[in-house]
Amino acid sequence: MHGTKILDEADRLMTVCNSCRYCEGLCAVFPAMEMRRAFSDGDLNYLANLCHACGACYVDCQFSPPHEFNVNVPKTLAIARADSYAAYAWPRAFAGLFARNGLAISLIAAISVAAFIFGFAAVNDHAVLYGIHTGPGAFYALMPHNAMALLFGAAFLYVILALAMSLRAFWRDIGEPVGMKADAPSLWQAIRDAGELRYLDGGGVGCFNDDDQPTDRRRLYHHFTLYGFLLCFAATCVGTLYHYLLGREAPYAWWDLPVVLGTLGGIGLFVGPIGLLAAKRQRDAVLVDETRTGMDTAFTVMLLLTGVTGLAVLLWRDTNAMGPLLALHLGFVFALFITLPYGKFVHGLYRFAALVRYARERRMMAGGVAE
Ligand code: SF4
Ligand code: SF4
Repeated sequence: MHGTKILDEADRLMTVCNSCRYCEGLCAVFPAMEMRRAFSDGDLNYLANLCHACGACYVDCQFSPPHEFNVNVPKTLAIARADSYAAYAWPRAFAGLFARNGLAISLIAAISVAAFIFGFAAVNDHAVLYGIHTGPGAFYALMPHNAMALLFGAAFLYVILALAMSLRAFWRDIGEPVGMKADAPSLWQAIRDAGELRYLDGGGVGCFNDDDQPTDRRRLYHHFTLYGFLLCFAATCVGTLYHYLLGREAPYAWWDLPVVLGTLGGIGLFVGPIGLLAAKRQRDAVLVDETRTGMDTAFTVMLLLTGVTGLAVLLWRDTNAMGPLLALHLGFVFALFITLPYGKFVHGLYRFAALVRYARERRMMAGGVAE
């Protein structure tokens, strides 16, 4: 017996699949499964986070419905995966809240912070909010840099702590009983696999949709989203270094590194999430659990709105729309930040940890690393 019914079902399916092994070439899930004869809760959460829900094993399976074995690996692992976000979340009390109302809470948080900044500036000096500000330090006419740094610095530290605690719990649960140390070659292999989204291709043909025509679109849009997010994060880091090390205040010229990185990242966060939302609508309903797609959608929508408002600030920063647009953008960035540990974002961390474990297991099987 496992901790939840869905893990019981995942155990049943993995036992069937372990006898069959027809799908072992499709992705990392089946080879990882074949290294086990029994499955703990942690093992099943590990397998669930290795799965990309491409749908290939459902389409290929001779035991999928209406067969009495009722094998549906993508859907079962998708539910287990969504449950794993809450199972390892820190603090636990927040996990269910976001699972049920992710988009509403994210939007309320974004609009509340934007309204606070908007009100703060309006009460201070109405003319500042709608004035035209240009040159170094223009953004800080709306909100002093120290206040901005305090607000976002506190949120950042909280998010890092919450993510680190969640990842630690996941890592311990999927590891060996005495804990598991990552080795450099396994880490490097996992970085390469995650960077290429290697297993998000249905064994080479792409993801399956409602029209039975596999495509690689989900992988493409995941790439736009992943690298868009990383570029925006890099832009923020470079801007922080400019401010504190070089004494150069934002906004910067369009050709300066933080703006180039932010613009490319913003385009990624525009194209990627729109593509993912469109791809989600085309997914075969049999592969997904509609009741648990809210968290995915919330994260994707928040990424999109963060990218769109960031690009809007860039385009209209020399006009009197800059104040309201910047307030809105900061609201979405803040809300995206504080919801990161409780939604789809953690899947990226758990998948990476699972890929490290998978690479390590493969090396152990090949005799390249000691137990
Ligand atoms: S999904 Fe079906 S075909 Fe694939 S390994 Fe499992 S039982 Fe076999
Ligand atoms: S849905 Fe795709 S990634 Fe998930 S287990 Fe099946 S083949 Fe592997």
